[in-house]
Amino acid sequence: MPSERGDAGRLGRRAVFVDRDGTLNPDLKYLADASRLDLYKGVADGIRLLESHGYLVVCVTNQSGVERGLYTVSDVERIHERLNEILRTGGAHVDRFYYCPHAPESHCECRKPGTLLFERAREDLGVQFSASAIVGDRVLDIEAGHKLGLLTVLVASRGHAAEVREEMSSHRVVADIEAPSFLAAAVRILARG
Ligand SMILES: [Mg+2]
Ligand SMILES: [Zn+2]
Repeated sequence: MPSERGDAGRLGRRAVFVDRDGTLNPDLKYLADASRLDLYKGVADGIRLLESHGYLVVCVTNQSGVERGLYTVSDVERIHERLNEILRTGGAHVDRFYYCPHAPESHCECRKPGTLLFERAREDLGVQFSASAIVGDRVLDIEAGHKLGLLTVLVASRGHAAEVREEMSSHRVVADIEAPSFLAAAVRILARG
């Protein structure tokens, strides 16, 4: 081993953390059935673009439906496999999925805006937060990003934009960048270098 984790000379990898529901796919509210999964237009192109510029793409998602008993962890994992199957046809893939299975009432540390899953990704993949970004459609995504020092990108996709902006303004949370689609978000991240 040339160096240990935490050595000053060790450069971490750049990652784009992506939310799942409402960001990669229309939010169907407690999606249980992988065959109903559908991605927003341009998502595969956006992910491929980020990967071609050396970014890891890491999905971090709150799946409280597990603890609520609406679906199981295997349903969640099947959806993630399906998501990557769909992306593969567009020459893209998500490098790693992390999900919180808990309901908000459990007050766990992994549910966004908690940062535990992001810290796990940093350990697992050697991510450097200061060179990384988060793309999401909810206040809790942007709040997690602010806590971690990520570039924050709000994606307000068509059919969903008014709701997204309303939630942000009612919580007085502001993202660094607002984009009208996932692909536009990816382009804006690359423009920041
Ligand atoms: Mg979302
Ligand atoms: Zn949790």
